[in-house]
Amino acid sequence: MPLSDITRRIAAAEAAAGRPPGSVTLIAVSKVQPLDRVVAVLEAGHRVFGENYVQEAAAKWPDLRARFGPLAVHMIGPLQTNKARQALDLFEAIHTLDRPSLAGKLARLVQERGHCPELFVQINTGAEPQKAGVLPDGADAFIAAARAMDLPLAGLMCIPPDGEDSRPHFAALADMAARNGLFGLSMGMSGDFEAAIAAGATHVRVGSAIFGARDYAARGAASA
Ligand SMILES: *Cc1c(COP(=O)(O)O)cnc(C)c1O
Repeated sequence: MPLSDITRRIAAAEAAAGRPPGSVTLIAVSKVQPLDRVVAVLEAGHRVFGENYVQEAAAKWPDLRARFGPLAVHMIGPLQTNKARQALDLFEAIHTLDRPSLAGKLARLVQERGHCPELFVQINTGAEPQKAGVLPDGADAFIAAARAMDLPLAGLMCIPPDGEDSRPHFAALADMAARNGLFGLSMGMSGDFEAAIAAGATHVRVGSAIFGARDYAARGAASA
């Protein structure tokens, strides 16, 4: 689907929710996509992207930044603590702050650098054992602990369980953010970004609807 169709759908969802135009940031999730598709979206004027893997982002974005100028790359995949330093060089935002050890590491690095990326705490709203994120019961305490480390937080992020109605998860995330005085809500993907906007999303993470299906096999072959 062309980028312009997605931006039109976002604008319609903002209007339907009575929200100001431009209140939702579209993160074009470019992980695993062939470079020509990413370049096409850059050439169409888009400047906010999402990546899941530090290594892939490091191989791709320095060149694209040199070529296309200022842009924002958001880390939306799990972040290993030993890659936190590299992540701060690569990303304007991190959506996957999900454990105390990572918060501690980021807090030290941020002190050292005097500058912090936009940070979202990932909440495992479905309490799925295989999924990353702070459990809902522990969210308030985790947010307080991160703030006590002087980590400025932009908001919360969630990935609702596959095959479930996302809306209760979006509503729960919005409640959690509101009671903690957080404004940012990173929620909604290709299949449910309009519902997320209705529930207050400030950032939607849309990949396949913009770029087409991801071909993990081709990526494996290319990097082998
Ligand atoms: C891959 C990914 C997306 C994009 O998913 P689509 O269904 O392709 O839009 C969004 N958020 C996260 C965390 C992802 O890993």
